[in-house]
Amino acid sequence: EGYVRPTTTPNATHFISDKRANATFVILARNTDIDGTVRSIREMEDRFNKYYKYPYVLLNEVPFTEDFKRRVSVLTDAHIDFGTISHDDWFQPAWIDEQKAKEGREKLVADKVIYGGSVSYRNMCRFNSGFFFKQPLMEKYRWYWRIEPDVHFHCDLNFDPFLYMEENNKVYGFTITMYEFEKTIPTLWASVKEFIKLHPEFVSPDNAMAFMSENGGDSYNLCHFWSNFEIADMNFWRGPAYTAFFDFLDQKGGFYYERWGDAPVHSIAAALFNRKDQIHFFDVVGYEHNPYVHCPRDDQQWKAGRCTCDQKRSFDYDGYSCMSKWDRLIGR
Ligand code: GDP
Ligand code: MN
Repeated sequence: EGYVRPTTTPNATHFISDKRANATFVILARNTDIDGTVRSIREMEDRFNKYYKYPYVLLNEVPFTEDFKRRVSVLTDAHIDFGTISHDDWFQPAWIDEQKAKEGREKLVADKVIYGGSVSYRNMCRFNSGFFFKQPLMEKYRWYWRIEPDVHFHCDLNFDPFLYMEENNKVYGFTITMYEFEKTIPTLWASVKEFIKLHPEFVSPDNAMAFMSENGGDSYNLCHFWSNFEIADMNFWRGPAYTAFFDFLDQKGGFYYERWGDAPVHSIAAALFNRKDQIHFFDVVGYEHNPYVHCPRDDQQWKAGRCTCDQKRSFDYDGYSCMSKWDRLIGR
């Protein structure tokens, strides 16, 4: 194709390894998300992937339009798959009591909770919790990086984060952590405690419970990793602990009776069923999802990344951030 893969990134001494991870980007999007999807992929290509050429999987519960595929395909010569999610992996299951679900939605609308009345948002959260890693197009990959439309990657990435994860035995990587809205998950923690009682064998030694609870697990402090950015190991989601955990939560119905998000569900599982050193804070990745941005703290890294973010605006020590609890956990 006339493309020569360089051996170093342009502004750095970093060599691009011939070694690659079995990894893909994954983007869930609607056809109407086309402009934002194009912008996110463009930034990812410019900041990282034009040198690495990891593939993309785009998923939607309806087929992507020809126009959508054309506008995405022009951005890169990395491999791109466009997939349609099956009905059962996306929509509210028939066994959900719709009357109860409706009452749950009305309560959250009355309480002015964001997306409180939305069924499609609940479908999305349940899909991201339990189904994206089971999609046929995802099956052959182990690692993924989740991207959303209209996010920003603020710095050049002069290393391969997938290989970093693999070589350092990491399972879950994040950039932003914050408090969840309690009204979306009133019974989630009780369900988690019930699950742990049933399955103490899944709880890891040296886990990150202290990041999420101030009292040894009795109550949840609402801290979670913001899942619109995730670099993680699908072997974990596909493994026995998370499979049992998701199934247990799913049959509680809280994705529909309440508004359980994939962020707290992923975060709680990652934190309890792994050692804390298997969770990685990607400080070097400048990342923005409206309204929050994470910008590398380290000046050297900020310069080496030619970052476009303002370090002073970084969310890390905002009052709504859980980063100080993360620091406490890992003893920084
Ligand atoms: P927020 O980040 O919690 O405000 O939620 P978003 O609206 O950004 O949705 C999260 C992700 O799911 C984004 O990648 C959206 O493009 C995608 N998404 C949300 N709702 C739908 C939907 O109904 N269908 C599809 N195909 N994607 C959706
Ligand atoms: Mn979003």
